[in-house]
Amino acid sequence: MGFLDKSINELINREYPCSCGRTHIANIENIAIGVNALQRLPEFIKNQLLPGGRVFDPKQDQILVVSDVNTHQAGGKKVFEMLQQEGFQVREFVFPYPSMHAEEQYAEELKAALFEGLSLIVTVGSGSLNDITRFVAFHAQIPYYIVATAPSMDGYASNVSPLIHNNLKITYSCACANAIIGDVALLATAPTKMIGAGLGDIIGKYIAINDWKMSHMLYGEYYCGEVADLVLYSVQKCVDNVPGLIRREPEALQYLMESLVLIGIAMSYIGVSRPASSSEHHIAHFLEMKSIFKGEYGELHGTNVGMATCLIHDMYRKFLEMDWNFDKAREHAKQFDYQKWEQEIRHSFGLAADEVISLYQKVGQNEPEQVLKRIDAIEEKQDQLRVMLEQVVKDTDTTAGLLRQLNGLTSPEGYGFDKGEIRDILRFAKDLRNRYAALQLFYDMGVLDELADHIVEAYL
Ligand SMILES: [Zn+2]
Ligand SMILES: [Zn+2]
Repeated sequence: MGFLDKSINELINREYPCSCGRTHIANIENIAIGVNALQRLPEFIKNQLLPGGRVFDPKQDQILVVSDVNTHQAGGKKVFEMLQQEGFQVREFVFPYPSMHAEEQYAEELKAALFEGLSLIVTVGSGSLNDITRFVAFHAQIPYYIVATAPSMDGYASNVSPLIHNNLKITYSCACANAIIGDVALLATAPTKMIGAGLGDIIGKYIAINDWKMSHMLYGEYYCGEVADLVLYSVQKCVDNVPGLIRREPEALQYLMESLVLIGIAMSYIGVSRPASSSEHHIAHFLEMKSIFKGEYGELHGTNVGMATCLIHDMYRKFLEMDWNFDKAREHAKQFDYQKWEQEIRHSFGLAADEVISLYQKVGQNEPEQVLKRIDAIEEKQDQLRVMLEQVVKDTDTTAGLLRQLNGLTSPEGYGFDKGEIRDILRFAKDLRNRYAALQLFYDMGVLDELADHIVEAYL
């Protein structure tokens, strides 16, 4: 069995017994991506199964079309009118804001707009509106569709909603959208920066897949080569189509949108975000967290991931040039000072420090005993590791150039953080999640501080 020859609709709603030993499944009822994809919307609605088991009935069931000031203009109005013309009972809710982020207060506003007889929510937008609707729809037990206005992030097929509450991002378990629609005519109206952000989120998968494979090779973590190949195949297709994205060609936009949805499918297959998120995402999450602490929104998620991918590329390249000194690494591991680490974590993570510290209590990622064992594995497999890292450096060699063409960022300069803050982001981003990745490898080899210094000196 292989996934590569399958269309995106063949990848959902069926079980795939896989060579990795697991059976993969992704439950999303309907996906339509491409030219005139929006035309499929009425048909999806007429066949929509509602909680309780009956099919959507246009005579009694009502629809709420959700958008914000921008996405209303871009497509919300069109969707509303189209559904009216099709004879559906439909109301509209437009968030009166030009720029929105996934904050709990907006979820409350949407919740207050729900009404008796409402059976389906159709949201027209991208990341934030999708996250807000997913949360509200899940708790109200109402099916929801997303009509994408920008190919800007890989959360369209996600089943969790990260929402900001009291300056902290909290990730809630929810359910996937019942339908995802990516009409290229709508996607083509997205600002270039949002398309670049989508590419950034996609291009980071080179690092994510490499790190997953690396952890499998070194420590035997579960890994599915077929899902990894599917992700890389899809990423490569986007990378090859960057000139088409710049010209907003329908085919290139379709590939990007399909890849963004497909990453969600890959995550469902594995049950966690391992195929999609690694050190580049840990850095991005840390940057996002720091912005939220300051009450700012910062850059788009995918823009951050793209930028962080450039940094990890550079760190891997530098790491390959270094002399891998295992005795020195062992000395470094033994010198770990928990008290000092906790102090630095409190300083760097502020409000989120408790969570990072309690994760450490469970995982103990820097405990000398654990690190020493890992160093043994790295030393034993250093030749294979070198080959693997040379490949990922090669794969991401063109990343910065590609991102720049789509208004992406390739340097931490301009984020408003000083050298010390960027240095600490690189040193402690690994402690945000329990996931073996580039930054932990550098720590294990005793060179993380040196590589962080290298980045700070090279970029700031
Ligand atoms: Zn598998
Ligand atoms: Zn992402």
